[in-house]
This record gives sequence, C-alpha cells and structure tokens, in this order.
Amino acid sequence: MSTRISHWIEGRTVAGTSGRTAAVHNPATGAVTGEVDLASTAEVSAAVATAVSAAQQWRSSSLSQRAAVLFAFRQLLHERSDDLARIITAEHGKVHSDALGEIARGLENVEFATGVPQLLKGGFSEQAATGVDVYNIRQPLGVVAGITPFNFPAMVPLWMCANAIACGNAFVLKPSEKDPSSALFLAQLWKEAGLPDGVFTVLHGDKEAVDALLTHPDVAAVSFVGSTPIAQYIYETGTAHGKRVQALGGAKNHALVLPDADLDVAADAIVSAAYGAAGERCMALSVAVAVGEIADPLVEAIALRLPKLVVGNGADAGTDMGPLITREHRDKVASYVDSGEEQGATVVVDGRTADVPADGFFLGTTLLDNVTPDMTCYRDEIFGPVLGVVRVETYEQGLELINGNRYANGTAIFTRDGGAARQFQFDVEVGMVGINVPIPVPVAYYSFGGWKDSLFGDTHMYGPEGINFYTRGKVVTSRWPDPATSSVDLGFPRTR
Ligand code: NAD
Repeated sequence: MSTRISHWIEGRTVAGTSGRTAAVHNPATGAVTGEVDLASTAEVSAAVATAVSAAQQWRSSSLSQRAAVLFAFRQLLHERSDDLARIITAEHGKVHSDALGEIARGLENVEFATGVPQLLKGGFSEQAATGVDVYNIRQPLGVVAGITPFNFPAMVPLWMCANAIACGNAFVLKPSEKDPSSALFLAQLWKEAGLPDGVFTVLHGDKEAVDALLTHPDVAAVSFVGSTPIAQYIYETGTAHGKRVQALGGAKNHALVLPDADLDVAADAIVSAAYGAAGERCMALSVAVAVGEIADPLVEAIALRLPKLVVGNGADAGTDMGPLITREHRDKVASYVDSGEEQGATVVVDGRTADVPADGFFLGTTLLDNVTPDMTCYRDEIFGPVLGVVRVETYEQGLELINGNRYANGTAIFTRDGGAARQFQFDVEVGMVGINVPIPVPVAYYSFGGWKDSLFGDTHMYGPEGINFYTRGKVVTSRWPDPATSSVDLGFPRTR
C-alpha cells in the first residue's frame, strides 16, 4: 500500500497542490511505499508566510518557555525513538540499531539546545567610559531553512532545528524526498511538546522547492547538508540572495594505519566505519592508507571479517548491513568497482557477486587493494560499501595523500604512538580527526564540519557555531544620566 506523504504547515498536514509527486521506496524490498508531494514555488511562498508570523511570536517567548518545549521534545523523542527508528529503516534501509544510533546522536543536539538560557548569555562591560556601559545580546534571524540529505533523515534535521528553534527562529525543513516520513514524525513530536504552530514547518520537494527557499526574501538563512555540487550551488545561490548559508558537502574519508597500530582494533574499526549503513555516511571511511609492512596483514584482516557481515533487510534482527537507497545508486556504486578493476585495482572481496537478497537495492561489501590516486574509485565519493586500500611507504606519503584530496570532512589515524598521533592532528588538513576512533563525529557541544570541498561557508554545524549561525549579535552602548544631577531630588549625594 502506498501512503500519501504531505507537507506540515501551521501544525497540521497539508496536502500538496502542485500536482507533482515522487515515489518513496522501501529499499529492502524495492516496493513503492509512498508518494511524496513536491512543493511548488507558490506553496513554498504560502508556507514561508505562515513561518514569518510564527517567528514574530516565537521570538517573544521567554528563554524558560523555549527550554521547557525543548525538554518536552527531548523526552518524547527519547520515548518514541523505537517508532522513529522503524520509519527510518523502512525508507532508508539502515539496520534498526543504526537508526537508533542516529536518533541518539540527534538527541544530543536537543539536549544541548535545552541549555539555551545559558547559551544566549551575552557579555557586559560596566563603565566602558564614564557612566557608559556596553553589552551584547544575540537575537534570532527570523525564518531559517534546513535542506537535508537522505542518509540521516532524523539526525541531520535535529542538528539544525533544535538550535534554530531554541534561538527563537521559525524553522522550515525541506527533507530529502527519498525518505521524507521521519520529518513528519519530528513535526508531530514538536507539536506534542508544545511548540506553537508554524514554528516548525516541513515542505517536501525537489529543486523547485529548494530554489524557492534560496531566493525567498523572507528566508534569512539556509543550512544545507548533502553532496558537494549541490552544496556549492546552495551556497552560491543563497548568498547571492543575501542569505547566511552553511553548506556541508561530500566526503572521502581516509584512515591512516601506521605499522605499529593494533591490527584487530584497526580492522574492526575500519570495517564498521566503511560498511556500516552500507557506506552511506558522510563520515564513512572509504580509503585505508596502509603504511609499510602493515598493508598485507591489514588487507587480510579486513577480508576475513567481511564474509561475516550479514546483508539483508535492516528491519530483521541479526542484519549487519542493509540495502542502498535506490536501484540507480546501487548500480552506480557497482560501476565504481568495475572501473577500479579496469584501472588496475585488486578486487579482494567482490560485492557484485555477493549472495544478497534478489529484491531490493542490495550490494555486497567490496574491498579493493592497490588503489592509486589517479583511479576514479579513489577520486570520486562512492557513497557505498566499497573500501579502497592505498599502500604507502611512509607517514609523510600518507599525509601528503590525505592533504592532497579535495574532500576534507573526517579522517582517522590508527597507532599506538601518542607522538605520531599528535603530529598527525597538527599536520592534517581535515575538519574532524579521530585518533583510534574511526568516525570522529563531534559531540553536540562541539561543532561539526569539514574543510575544503566538504564545506561551503565558514560556519560549522550545531554546537556553539550553530548558536552563532542562528542568531545575530547586537551591541548596546548605554549612558544614563548621573542620578545626582537629576532635577528631582532622588536622595543621592551631590558629589561621589
Ligand atoms: P543531495 O545533494 O543529492 O541532496 C541533498 C538535498 O538537496 C536533498 O534535500 C535534495 O532534495 C536536494 N537537492 C538535490 N538535488 C538538488 C538540486 N539540483 N537543486 C537543489 N536541491 C537539490 O545529497 P543526498 O544524495 O541526499 O545525500 C548524500 C550526500 O550528502 C553525500 O555526498 C554525503 O557525503 C553528503 N552528506 C554530507 C554530510 C556532511 O556532514 N558533510 C552529512 C550527510 C551527507
């Protein structure tokens, strides 16, 4: 049965009127499970107008009122996380435990945002000049939009909306049209938590809706997470229309494995970070850079682990890896294995011939050895269950490879040597670094973001930088007359 998936405007579902929809699939079965409305420019304008008036009211709410809504939302999300995880698995395909993990990482951001009274405290300088005080306050922007990718349909919206709403903005979410139902679940929870109607809006859509948000004069800021070409487009179009934009792009995350690394720790970590969520994570490890003599044992250790991963429906207990998001994407990922083989890589484990369910968009795990930087499978972001191993002789060669890559989202070093790890942290030109930690996603009280082609704009997402992004500073310089000079006798001594 196919469900109609509609917009969420002013606290209720609103059926689309554009006449355009897109099919939503369960990637584990290939079946069409929903039809999502795709908003027209006119629908976006009408929804933004409701958000504008909601923002005007919401910015007047007290900090404790906002914190109370966030605490209630946090509790609801915690209690209903199992239901939300099932929705994620049914449309995205990732295994249930991984969907719960995504929600847990999103929850951290809600918990951070409950501290909004503390987060928005400004500074105060008494007597900056004689009788003059100076202080700063941070105020919301108004209506802010979030445009999010398919691979974290709950976590990435939570990265954005918790802080945006806590800061007193109205938030308009344009989720991925591939797995749109999680956004509606979040909308329902916001309502139950007591958020006034219109402060959280969901507009489903594709390029037309995105362009309407990017050019709308009443949208003050845009947070984007997705692929690099679209991130660049969002940044350029949004800023050309006077908006504040943070646009996080694609990735090619390298693990640097030094010869002294604990082989089992490194192999376990790399397998889970490369193949978890079928490699469809922006912090997935997709290249293992093996330094010197560890290369042979590392390739062997990874190859030994891969047949043990159970590939299947993410809703079934015992499944380690689910399907890819669409049939087209599955075929594109497989074509990178083809090209790697043609260009000289060694196919150690071949996901194309794996025994995977026939229905659905499945591909087995692939391990490519002897990958070189000129190969397409090295240069492009594959975003699937394919790990390439590049062999180098020295730390410097590995570092040069990582720093030469256009993407710079995350990286990890595996070593027992603290000095080497510290040197890597100093040298590497990447936004998020793990030391024996394969997926170094910062906790919610730091901020998340890459460098180079993994980020357009200068603000990282969530944490302190998120609070800054969703507010603008105002500095007040004030002078009050000396009460001693008042024409009315206030009882102050004439001289002090
Ligand atoms: P995508 O760029 O295709 O889509 C992201 C969003 O942009 C979606 O909401 C989509 O509807 C919209 N969009 C797509 N094409 C558009 C167009 N031509 N014009 C305007 N809007 C458009 O990304 P995806 O496939 O959903 O997600 C996977 C990508 O996201 C990968 O590249 C991954 O690395 C990246 N990602 C990055 C991070 C990060 O933190 N840097 C996190 C998650 C995902």
